[in-house]
Amino acid sequence: MAKRTVKHIGDDQLVYGMPKHMVGVSSQESLTKFKKAEAEYERSNQNPPADPMGDYYWTVHPKSKACVKCQAMAGKEFMEEPERPHPNCKCEIKKHPLRKVKRYINGSLSNHEWRRFKGGKHVHIRLKGIWGGLTTGVWIEVNGESKENLACPPRTSHTINLKADEDAPVTWTIRLQAHGSDGIQVDYTIIYEDWDD
Ligand SMILES: [Zn+2]
Repeated sequence: MAKRTVKHIGDDQLVYGMPKHMVGVSSQESLTKFKKAEAEYERSNQNPPADPMGDYYWTVHPKSKACVKCQAMAGKEFMEEPERPHPNCKCEIKKHPLRKVKRYINGSLSNHEWRRFKGGKHVHIRLKGIWGGLTTGVWIEVNGESKENLACPPRTSHTINLKADEDAPVTWTIRLQAHGSDGIQVDYTIIYEDWDD
């Protein structure tokens, strides 16, 4: 029987470039699965968003008479240029080159995802609500600790600045959990300094 199979394959070995005995594998179902997996892969490995700012971080230096909101920004490092908390803010914003390359992790959250990487002291997360309902939210856990629980219905966005207690390199584990409604999609970008080399 084995002999006969071998002989048969030899007769017309290729069908559309695949060995004949493999053709049956690409059923409609597995093809759909494959395409879905492929789309998933493409999506999680997109190119980083254009970043005209380059590899910099920012610090805010409030004047002594600055308001509470501005004072609260002192001593932090921002992976993106921070927005001024109010018009006519006279605080100094300084731009510094990063010590390492800036990396982006892009993804689409519909349920639960987690990411682990070796980064610097500061991490920046952007969330953008795409699908869901008024009660859609995202719970963020950082290195095993509950950090934020944000309302994130469609057409809302958030930026979250995280700061580690220790100095770089910091091993970050970030878990994102969508909740509150069905059919959720929240797009996210995690920005960090790459210390993984
Ligand atoms: Zn200010």
